[in-house]
Amino acid sequence: MAVDPLIEMQDVNKYFGELHVLQDIDLTVAKGEVVVVIGPSGSGKSTLCRAINRLEPIRSGTIRIDGQPLPSEGKALAALRADVGMVFQSFNLFAHKTVLQNVSLGQVKVRKRKKEAADRRSRELLDRVGLADQASKYPAQLSGGQQQRVAIARALAMDPKVMLFDEPTSALDPEMINEVLEVMQQLAREGMTMVVVTHEMGFARSAANRVVFMADGRIVEDRTPDGFFTSPESDRAKDFLSKIL
Ligand code: ADP
Ligand code: MG
Repeated sequence: MAVDPLIEMQDVNKYFGELHVLQDIDLTVAKGEVVVVIGPSGSGKSTLCRAINRLEPIRSGTIRIDGQPLPSEGKALAALRADVGMVFQSFNLFAHKTVLQNVSLGQVKVRKRKKEAADRRSRELLDRVGLADQASKYPAQLSGGQQQRVAIARALAMDPKVMLFDEPTSALDPEMINEVLEVMQQLAREGMTMVVVTHEMGFARSAANRVVFMADGRIVEDRTPDGFFTSPESDRAKDFLSKIL
């Protein structure tokens, strides 16, 4: 299917104890593709994302990023985490570092950039997410929407090959959701490869190339957004959509 695959998951299985949380997952994401993952709470969406950058080890199957199997430790793992940017529901910024320091830190530590070069790149990215004037503030001085945009800038600063978003707007007050979605829309337009777990169906319809619907640890549907939203095939998807739309 994918001409130039960036993420390839083949027959991936994962358990938490007895719970079979990822079941025979096959998922390929091509370069430049935007895949939105939706599904009921507990269906395995976060675990799927966390498996892709090896925050969770898997029981069986293979995961490749840009043709390479996931490394399990050391520098190769740190490099993988830089290549696979991740943005969580909780922004996970360092509270005692400024916005600029938050965005520069990984560049210096993992990408081995000089502090000046890192800071220059950070300012560019802060400008891109609309926060050029907030660089010297601390996270607690920012709104949730601003903090999440810092988290996005921080991940982008590593020049990732792909960005994973796990419910990036779920913890935000409603009036802040759009400013974060707009940054994500812009990234999608620029050709960033993205996997986005979200309940924002407007975003899914306008930005996604594909919608992956998960239930009980399985991928139940993998479709175009239009196909999925207008004619879901499975009972699980029909039921889910009837509750959220
Ligand atoms: P989703 O993101 O779709 O809500 P998750 O991937 O977070 O689902 O969780 C899938 C299932 O795995 C849920 O039943 C959840 O309770 C369970 N689970 C998630 N993380 C852990 C963990 N660290 N230990 C045990 N069970 C977990
Ligand atoms: Mg989740």
